[in-house]
Amino acid sequence: MPRRGNLVALAGLLVSWACAAAALTALSDDDLRNLPSPGSEFDIDNGALLAPILIPRVSGTEGNFKVQRHFVDFFKKELPDWEILWQNSTSTTPVTGDKQVPFSNLIIRRDPPESPAGDVGRLTLVAHYDSKYSPTGFVGAVDSAAPCAMLMFAAKAIDEALTAKWKAMKESGDDMLQQPEGVQILFLDGEEAFRTWTSTDSLYGSRSLAEQWDGEFHAAMSAYRTPLDSISLFVLLDLLGSADPVVPSYFLTTNWAYSNMGSLEQRMRKLGLLEAKPRNPFLPEAGQDIKHFGRGYIEDDHVPFMKRGVEILHIIPSPFPDVWHKMEDDGEHLDLPTVRDWAKIVTAFTVEWMDLKDHMPKRAVKPEKRSETTGSVHSKRTEL
Ligand SMILES: [Zn+2]
Repeated sequence: MPRRGNLVALAGLLVSWACAAAALTALSDDDLRNLPSPGSEFDIDNGALLAPILIPRVSGTEGNFKVQRHFVDFFKKELPDWEILWQNSTSTTPVTGDKQVPFSNLIIRRDPPESPAGDVGRLTLVAHYDSKYSPTGFVGAVDSAAPCAMLMFAAKAIDEALTAKWKAMKESGDDMLQQPEGVQILFLDGEEAFRTWTSTDSLYGSRSLAEQWDGEFHAAMSAYRTPLDSISLFVLLDLLGSADPVVPSYFLTTNWAYSNMGSLEQRMRKLGLLEAKPRNPFLPEAGQDIKHFGRGYIEDDHVPFMKRGVEILHIIPSPFPDVWHKMEDDGEHLDLPTVRDWAKIVTAFTVEWMDLKDHMPKRAVKPEKRSETTGSVHSKRTEL
């Protein structure tokens, strides 16, 4: 994966964008306390979400197919209301000669019921699931097994609340067609270069998907012209799972969304809801002055979408983790408190975006010890 690009090319995209920030209702402290915590699901040996992805999974190989099956089995069994779609392509690569290597993107989505597909905007959560061709046996735990597992966790965390929210809206007679918002996860294939990162040897899956969606048109009079237009925000997770990540805000037009996520991180940390003890916040630029924007960006799966005008929130550390593209990028080198923190942060962001705060299942939580002197009447809860 990725290399640095030049933001100048994007100047044309940096137009003023009427963001939906004002429409978001912030989560309360109690909402944050009520978010589920990943338990053993991220265990590297037998965790239900992560362990099955921690294998070599080069595009077109059996490991890659196994991980596809892991995603499909998980959603079919645990989250059957999510629709599973495939987008397939083939390409030659610099190391496989004339052979057409298959690349299979998985699109897993939940739209509000009874909303025509062309009228649904979709929060789009993205990670790549293929692993690098070399060195042989490379696992790619931060690149990007852990981010894939984080997205599975977030989907599971919001599933019941989505059902409850849409049911409540229907019962109350709310006009769901006003601005229906769904959520989709893209597990992308073929992100890695087979030999050396070039415009043709990288991003096999995302280039194909962005091109296809650009040419698919919704019914006339739909709110969104194409499935690309339906993407309300493209949130790409990559290289997450090492300790002490520093993720800058890469794009002016989505700095507000970055700041929302960063604010959630800082609040959860203050409330003692996160586990890692990083030197700095993971998202240190939340709320900062945005005058200095103009830095380069990192080439990754968002590029084919960004070039077509999709708004991007790129959650990738800079500098990259020390294990990047080394054999050491395996399960043992993950910092699991950091992995679990990211899962919670991304979940909180999704709950807020989808306005699910009033619909999240209430979790059993232990009462916090009261101060002997104040005998506080505040009903406080604490994380298990
Ligand atoms: Zn990579």
